[in-house]
Amino acid sequence: MTQKLFIYNTLSRTKELFKPLHEGRVGMYVCGPTVYGDAHLGHARPAITFDVLFRYLQHLGYKVRYVRNITDVGHLEHDADEGEDKIAKKARLEQLEPMEVAQHYTNRFHDAMTALNVLPPSIEPHASGHIIEQEQLVKEILNNGYAYESNGSIYFDVEKYNKDHHYGILSHRNLDDVINHSRELAGVDEKRNQVDFALWKRAEPQHIMRWPSPWSNGFPGWHCECTAMGRKYLGQQFDIHGGGMDLVFPHHECEIAQAVASQGHPMVTYWMHNNMITINGQKMGKSLNNFITLQEFFTGNHSELDEAYSPMTIRFFILQAHYRSTVDFSNDALKASRKGLLRLMEGVKNLERIGATPNGHIKTDFTRELSEKCYEAMNDDLNSPIVISHLFDACRLINQIVDKQESITPDALEELKTIFRTFAFDVLGLKAEAEGSNKREEAFSQAVDLLLEIRSQAKANKDWATSDKIRNELAQFGFEVKDTKDGATWNLNK
Ligand SMILES: [Zn+2]
Repeated sequence: MTQKLFIYNTLSRTKELFKPLHEGRVGMYVCGPTVYGDAHLGHARPAITFDVLFRYLQHLGYKVRYVRNITDVGHLEHDADEGEDKIAKKARLEQLEPMEVAQHYTNRFHDAMTALNVLPPSIEPHASGHIIEQEQLVKEILNNGYAYESNGSIYFDVEKYNKDHHYGILSHRNLDDVINHSRELAGVDEKRNQVDFALWKRAEPQHIMRWPSPWSNGFPGWHCECTAMGRKYLGQQFDIHGGGMDLVFPHHECEIAQAVASQGHPMVTYWMHNNMITINGQKMGKSLNNFITLQEFFTGNHSELDEAYSPMTIRFFILQAHYRSTVDFSNDALKASRKGLLRLMEGVKNLERIGATPNGHIKTDFTRELSEKCYEAMNDDLNSPIVISHLFDACRLINQIVDKQESITPDALEELKTIFRTFAFDVLGLKAEAEGSNKREEAFSQAVDLLLEIRSQAKANKDWATSDKIRNELAQFGFEVKDTKDGATWNLNK
């Protein structure tokens, strides 16, 4: 590897030179989605961030094993150990098998990832398919004395662990304060201490997702799956673990504790976290009514959206910010990204049609420097916005060549083509979209809106025949129409 890649490690809070445990090979694990609803912009960010890392490592010549899980059991509503299982709840409400819910949203997640040109991971394990491995992990932690049983559930003993090791090593929290404070609350539930977290939960008889274990019929705690599956597919020690910044605490802190408590040493060398996306300055949330799914972005079918935005516009928008800085979504920001992407793609198109001149003004010393600057930006903790700005500079030159104000030698032209192929396509994962596809999507979505408007007029006139006809026939084409108090919404389930 001739390139020296530096990545920011949340553990040390510094940029560190990346050195894999095994020469030429990289093991990397990223927390995947909990599949109980459609993916939104917040899911696109880690997927794209770690897709770029996956692509870049491969470009540098590493053999990468990339594991990204599907959480289909154990993730409770309130993230800690309270509330109903997210997938079980959806299944109960929709009268489906939990695995039908998980499969449905996994398929839709894959569709969205394909549209965003996110490469599939090497392995995509499901939590529900690794109950035995998770029980094994719990047994090891129990045997080592860092967990206790309470009423059929098993909890991790954070206080005991913190005496021998450091709980808070990743999130840099002062756990002594938290532990002392929460002692007052001890005894209100099964836990000895409020900071303890569930490794195994006993299930109530009505619970639809449960498995036998030595302790009770139940299900694993949410944090167990990533430790158990990471270890199974990448070994007791591997290079990179990634995810959104919101996962640093408690999820990743608990993962570290579980690894150390079971095997005596940490599992991960580099912890990487992408920052969050806000919508008009607010956190995204279902309750805030600013929750926009990726499919809604692609069709423009959401009250917050002025129009449809193509998958590559979304990808480019995310890459225009460094992954550790915040990104605020607005229609204006996305429109600006679309323009930028168009400019870049025009540059690529022009690059194919310009001719070289043997004694052209732009020579290989220029293209070599450009290439070095792009590598430098990528090596500096995947600084994609800087790479994009270098490509924009090159686009300006390409336009000048088109206008005959500049000239380029044949060798430099070939190198320039390689730079675009490497950075715009292979590393950043952009791709040309069919011209006008965005406009077509928009027109198509306006036509469906119009049909629903006619239907709502028909309903107002008590013309049920017309209203039902529109709904039923749209359903036949795959449109799911839902009536809400703010009017009808639609979704294309294809
Ligand atoms: Zn995880």
